[in-house]
Amino acid sequence: MRIIVQKFGGTSVASREGRQRACSHVEEARREGLCPVVVVSAMGRSGDPYATDTLLSVATAENPEVPPRDQDLLLSCGEIIAAVVLSGTLRARGVPAVPLTGAQAGIVTDGHHGDAAIVQVRTQRLLEHLRRGEVPVVCGFQGVTEDGEVTTLGRGGSDTTAAALGGALRAEVVEIYTDVDGVKTADPRLVPDARTLPVTTYDEVAQMAHHGAKVIHPRAVEIAMQSNVPLRVRSTFSDSPGTLVTFSVEAAGTAVSPLRPMGAVTAVTHVSGLAQVAVEVEPGDPRGLEMLRHLADAGISIDLINLYPDRKVFCIDERRAPRARAVLTGLGLAPRVRTGLVKVSVVGAGMRGRPGVMATIAEALAGAGVEILQTADSHVTISCLIQQEDLERAVRALHRAFGLGSGN
Ligand code: ADP
Ligand code: MG
Repeated sequence: MRIIVQKFGGTSVASREGRQRACSHVEEARREGLCPVVVVSAMGRSGDPYATDTLLSVATAENPEVPPRDQDLLLSCGEIIAAVVLSGTLRARGVPAVPLTGAQAGIVTDGHHGDAAIVQVRTQRLLEHLRRGEVPVVCGFQGVTEDGEVTTLGRGGSDTTAAALGGALRAEVVEIYTDVDGVKTADPRLVPDARTLPVTTYDEVAQMAHHGAKVIHPRAVEIAMQSNVPLRVRSTFSDSPGTLVTFSVEAAGTAVSPLRPMGAVTAVTHVSGLAQVAVEVEPGDPRGLEMLRHLADAGISIDLINLYPDRKVFCIDERRAPRARAVLTGLGLAPRVRTGLVKVSVVGAGMRGRPGVMATIAEALAGAGVEILQTADSHVTISCLIQQEDLERAVRALHRAFGLGSGN
């Protein structure tokens, strides 16, 4: 059996047009002799009637305290609605579809409500449907514990469901259908002339996702890489081939490589909503290190970390700023917290060992009048912390400086 997993995101299933287009992609796979397993997200985006946070607001309006277990039960409804509706669309077009909850599809998770990890996929039931020629339409973003508690998988959870199913079912490919036609050189909402990458590697796209390219979730990329299933990010609304994600760009074939920007940098990404925390300490003051453990115990993850003997600087999600401030003042420290910041990153496997990337970044940002507040780098990424109001100018300037636009 040749299996393909096809995941349709929120905007793809929200409208009748989107659902019809989704069905066409399913039918096309069937015509090619593939057995599709469909994964769906909740319909629409934030604010739409059945979107995940709309559901939550219904419960919090009644009582602001929704325990994590109850919250997961509620949040799982959005995908159930989408799976039933899309199954209806498919059946109306003559495709025998069967909507399944995460539990029914065999997605077993740990008990970490709100951010559960998939520990096992029991494929038996899915395989039975496929053998009968049916198309399972699986609710993304959700699973069930061994004890039968409904869980959700956290942000980007439907991508994770799709990748996990692809691995467990040994699918030929996992297709991630969304509202843009692939992984692009920058968020097209900020950079209209961003180009679609015909092919990229797991490593590169995971870095992009970690640094804010929300087109695919990093956990999904990791799962696909571990099980060696190729991913394809495509648009629901077009027939363009999208972006193939695999182990090596070269192995993907020469047909695509001439289109591939082979410069140092592949893409510019960004993460909004950050706060920078700076704490002055006397050198040798044990609180300078103890604070890291206290922040961790409070569930606050830190990024862009610079530790000097007399000064500790790092970034956090700005929504956690009040909590972080409370933790630090509780230790008798006097943190300075600056909110309204963004991290812009340039990502590219081609920058390994290549001199001048930081110089190009610094010049491009200075030329655009953007002040760099802090930097960090890894082997394939350089990140700069800047102010939110500089975001668009910064991303565009970097995109241009590295020759990523379609005009280049
Ligand atoms: P879905 O609901 O289909 O999962 P998402 O909103 O999660 O869709 O992801 C698609 C969005 O990701 C696009 O609309 C686009 O604005 C955004 N995005 C951010 N960075 C990138 C990028 N580098 N390439 C493509 N899309 C990006
Ligand atoms: Mg998404």
